[in-house]
Amino acid sequence: MFVKCGNVSIEGVSRSTIETYFYIKELKLTFDIGKCPFHLTPVPNVFLSHMHGDHAMGIYYYLSHRNLAKMVPGKIYLPEEALKDTERVIDSFSSLEFVKRNYELIPLAVGDKIEYDRDHVIETFATDHRIPSLGFLIKKKKTKLKLEFINKSQQEIIEMKKKGIEITDTTFEPYITYVGDSTIKPVDEYDFIKQSEILIIECTFLTPEHFDQAEQRKHIHLKNIIDRAEQFKNKYILLTHFSMRYSDDMIREYIFNHIPESLKDRVIAFF
Ligand SMILES: [Zn+2]
Ligand SMILES: [Zn+2]
Repeated sequence: MFVKCGNVSIEGVSRSTIETYFYIKELKLTFDIGKCPFHLTPVPNVFLSHMHGDHAMGIYYYLSHRNLAKMVPGKIYLPEEALKDTERVIDSFSSLEFVKRNYELIPLAVGDKIEYDRDHVIETFATDHRIPSLGFLIKKKKTKLKLEFINKSQQEIIEMKKKGIEITDTTFEPYITYVGDSTIKPVDEYDFIKQSEILIIECTFLTPEHFDQAEQRKHIHLKNIIDRAEQFKNKYILLTHFSMRYSDDMIREYIFNHIPESLKDRVIAFF
């Protein structure tokens, strides 16, 4: 699927057990990599939320495609607990192919902060899944006129600028949150999830008979979202990672018929 959310476009696929990735072209990154469709080969930054096959298996294709195309190895960020095994698997694949493959794995822990580019920082947060997993928050730089100068005229501001007076404050504000696979726990824990402009959040299960499944498999159920509907301030809410039990049509229809009015113009069923 492809959606435009303000200044960024999100291209991706997301179905539980099949494949999940979200490619954000403007930011030169993909959240998870799925099976690495060929067009993800040139993407220089891969952020893996966890190592379940449907989210991460594509890194081996990614490395070999880049290698064949004589590109530098891209940066693969992953939960630190997965580092050693991932190195071993990449080395084993390389050995099977009688090649030496270069790669760059960057282990991350909860609370890490990456100075990503001039305008963005990326922070990790704790999610709640069956294996070690991370969520990602992209914060965007905002420059605002300092509060004390808010009533000054255009001319006065120009004069102050000329004198070299610092007239603006720079802050980094929640922009895009990717929750990865998780229960609803991080939503209750972190306010930025409900405040970032764009929220990409899993919603694996929809119907009442799958409520226990959601808990056992550590996934989010649509009811968890509906129960907290009033808390979500996001401009765009991408619900993703639906179970293969549900058809595309059923997902669209079920969500539309069950979410409250306040969410209807902001929720996108993304698969
Ligand atoms: Zn998954
Ligand atoms: Zn998973």
